[in-house]
Amino acid sequence: MQVMPSSWHKSRSLLITSFEAATHVHSGVSLFDLFQLLELWISWTDFTKAVSACTALHYVPGGSARTIPLAGWELGTALILRSIADAIGGTRLIAALEALEGPQRTQHRALAQGFGVCFLSSFQLVDVSLPALKDTCMSCGGLRYLRSACLSCGLPHNLEFPMLVKLSLPNEDDFIQADATVLEHARLNAIAAGIVYIDTCGHEHNIFKEFGGDIIFLFRNLVHSAGLNGHISEEVASLPSRRDEIQMSLQAARSFAGLIQRWTTEHVRMNNEIEMEEILNIVEALHALAQLGIENDDSLPLATEISAMLTTLEHPICTNTRVRQDDFKTVESSRLKRKKTFASQNSRFQVRDVKRRLQEAILQFDVTDMLGYDPTKRQVPLTDAKHCAHCGKVNSRGVTSCVDCNAFLRARIDYGSLTDALVWSYLFEEIGVPLVCNNADVSFVDVVTILPAVRAYQRIDELGHDFFRLQCYFVTHFIYVMSDWGRHTLRRELFEEELVFIASNLTQVIFMEDPELTGEFLQCLRILGVSRLDSTIWPLIHHAMTYLLELERRHGGQGAWSKRSDMPYDRYHTAYCATVGLMSYGFSQVAIDSSKASSPIPRAFQVRVLG
Ligand SMILES: [Zn+2]
Ligand SMILES: [Zn+2]
Repeated sequence: MQVMPSSWHKSRSLLITSFEAATHVHSGVSLFDLFQLLELWISWTDFTKAVSACTALHYVPGGSARTIPLAGWELGTALILRSIADAIGGTRLIAALEALEGPQRTQHRALAQGFGVCFLSSFQLVDVSLPALKDTCMSCGGLRYLRSACLSCGLPHNLEFPMLVKLSLPNEDDFIQADATVLEHARLNAIAAGIVYIDTCGHEHNIFKEFGGDIIFLFRNLVHSAGLNGHISEEVASLPSRRDEIQMSLQAARSFAGLIQRWTTEHVRMNNEIEMEEILNIVEALHALAQLGIENDDSLPLATEISAMLTTLEHPICTNTRVRQDDFKTVESSRLKRKKTFASQNSRFQVRDVKRRLQEAILQFDVTDMLGYDPTKRQVPLTDAKHCAHCGKVNSRGVTSCVDCNAFLRARIDYGSLTDALVWSYLFEEIGVPLVCNNADVSFVDVVTILPAVRAYQRIDELGHDFFRLQCYFVTHFIYVMSDWGRHTLRRELFEEELVFIASNLTQVIFMEDPELTGEFLQCLRILGVSRLDSTIWPLIHHAMTYLLELERRHGGQGAWSKRSDMPYDRYHTAYCATVGLMSYGFSQVAIDSSKASSPIPRAFQVRVLG
């Protein structure tokens, strides 16, 4: 990756400033602000219509506007707004303008800019190679300004896949040669065994005590991943082609239901001294409960109900959002019938009690203890230069090269802390608990503001082994947050950096013999709508799946992808990642038509107001 010269930084930011001034709409809102927000809020089809409606009027003033793209907007702005309203509907246009001018305008603008094209707002970081994304339009050569379409010429942007390098991989085995039916059989068996294995881990007393909330969260992901974008619920009754997916989802839902039952029983007696790890486990469990609409243990849902609820597209977390509750009427009413006779205030387990204790507990912590850095400062966190990016060793002060591996030492983007900040700030807002520690009040938007500066991902040889792995986890968890851990697909144009990074590094993580990252990469590609139709990536996906199958076979074929002597967390987490990766694609099924599947708008694109 090349470093852009500093003159480029300046001229680009100047271009944007003058464009914003020229397209001023009202109350300090420019057309550019409006388009950045609309790009997140409306579908790709509608968005490209809006952009094209706007470029049709783009040359209205004539003269130099014909040769200098984006000049003369100020004269046509009123006409442009009318055309956009015609293209996407007046209500949606007004909702976006209201968001940009209303009481949450600062947050909405931060979200829109945070997810937009890299505008080098990261100038404080001198050693980051930017932009990683191609910012110029392939048709007209102008700056694209937006991700999905060119605001200069109006054409939609076509995402080009990188040339994929195939490394020669270790342990290539006869699985590679096996036919699709044999592989599909092995895949389904490995998934079923994986679910049993994770369930067994969840039932070990010490593992449940320490990681119960995390395991509940992972089972929830397995339940909904089988029905990505609501495929199961729509066809739950009949289609034989969905039979395997329904079985997977139900099997995971049975384990999930059992663990929720146990968790709600055992967590009533939560003591006052809660450690950080336990807090985070509670947040994960509460997120899973919130998605099922569980407030207490009066009437916990059955596995079939869980599976039906979680594989629908609509999102049941209703607080502070515009998600409609009546989508779940059917399931809700059947649960009401089973409701126990005693009143809910006599219930032994109440989510609101747990949340109150959670809120008290986090007040005891410093923000850096929780998230690794303070996101409210809105600066990219950097690692300590003494921390070796290659082997992870923390060296003593004053040395310039690592004493263990001789790698050159310098400060880097702290992707470990960024992952924590992104995940926890999102989850806390989702469960409706403000993330207020003793020295900071953190919101998800705080973390989003620095995204443009950290999405220029680096290769393993640029970054060092240890930090590369942390960067990989950041990439996958960014995709997880945006898709609610694989509950729905994402529009790939908005996640170009991540898609290109994952596709280019899938072979690398197999080469590193890392089943966790291999499984996570597979799942992320599926979330980004990659299918057999993407012919350059498909052979690598196929290869990654055979690697996972082969590894499970080497560990005895019992759903384990790690040694019995490994740490408990590694045992269940590796099994989970491999299982969810295998669940993402079938060997024999027809190509998933991701082009027609319209991805829903991620909840992360909404501003949440708590309290
Ligand atoms: Zn163009
Ligand atoms: Zn080192």
